Amino acid sequence: MNGRQLITDTQNTWCPGCGNFSIQHTLKNVLADMEREGQSLDNVVLVSGIGCHAKIADYLNINSFYSLHGRTIPVATGLKLANPGLTVICCAGDGDCYAEGLDHLIFAAKRNIDLTVIVHNNRVYGLTTGQYTPTSPRGFKGKSTPLGTLEDPFNPLELMLASGATYVARGYSKKMDLLRTLIREGVGHKGFAFIDVLQICATFFPAADYYSPRIYDLEGHDPASFEAAFAKAREWDYNGDAPIALGTFFKRNSPVFEGKTAARTLSTMEREQAVREVLKKRT
Ligand code: SF4
Repeated sequence: MNGRQLITDTQNTWCPGCGNFSIQHTLKNVLADMEREGQSLDNVVLVSGIGCHAKIADYLNINSFYSLHGRTIPVATGLKLANPGLTVICCAGDGDCYAEGLDHLIFAAKRNIDLTVIVHNNRVYGLTTGQYTPTSPRGFKGKSTPLGTLEDPFNPLELMLASGATYVARGYSKKMDLLRTLIREGVGHKGFAFIDVLQICATFFPAADYYSPRIYDLEGHDPASFEAAFAKAREWDYNGDAPIALGTFFKRNSPVFEGKTAARTLSTMEREQAVREVLKKRT
């Protein structure tokens, strides 16, 4: 279906000022760009998890799967393996994807399956009214940590680089033009594309005053260099006063998982022969 209305009529229940609006509209613009370039949106599937971000599946008029907490990636992996012709985009939250779903994220990067994962990283559990997540800064005071967290946040970019992701980027919900470029690049990348989006939670972590003086666009950085990407990723550890780089940190081409599984697929005859051999060994 071409020229479709990409925003649904579903009542939007995000708080006023929520960064999810920017991500939704940016993704909508990317989808419209893809359609203008001749790609059918019938071949695009959006998978969301559980959390404020996940309502995006209700608000965007494309094929979507509203999955379980932390389970965007296994659903997306199944979709991609069953139908490699699909463009599969995951929208996940930080509490969703960096906590309960972390193992799936790491293994998807390790496999280099051709998915795009957009993490709405507001660094707080918004839907459950303000508990800390794996990327909340040390000392974050929320419902579950009234005296402040004692833990340091982990750095998702560093983790994704170490896990084998072949496209790693960081955006910000208040820089929509850059985010549009990153999402378009990520969706076009053949392999596992990871985009961490620093997202404002207007109600439980309105961090714009913290981000604004620190963010800058990556320039003169070579995204083909793993060492340079790693050094840039470590510049800011999701705590403190260091500058916060936005843009494409790393990009390289590598064989995708679904290509390898397709090559491994056996014909019916080969499968029967393999079963016969196993049974023969048992007798
Ligand atoms: Fe957005 Fe935060 Fe409100 Fe959730 S709680 S809708 S993340 S502003």
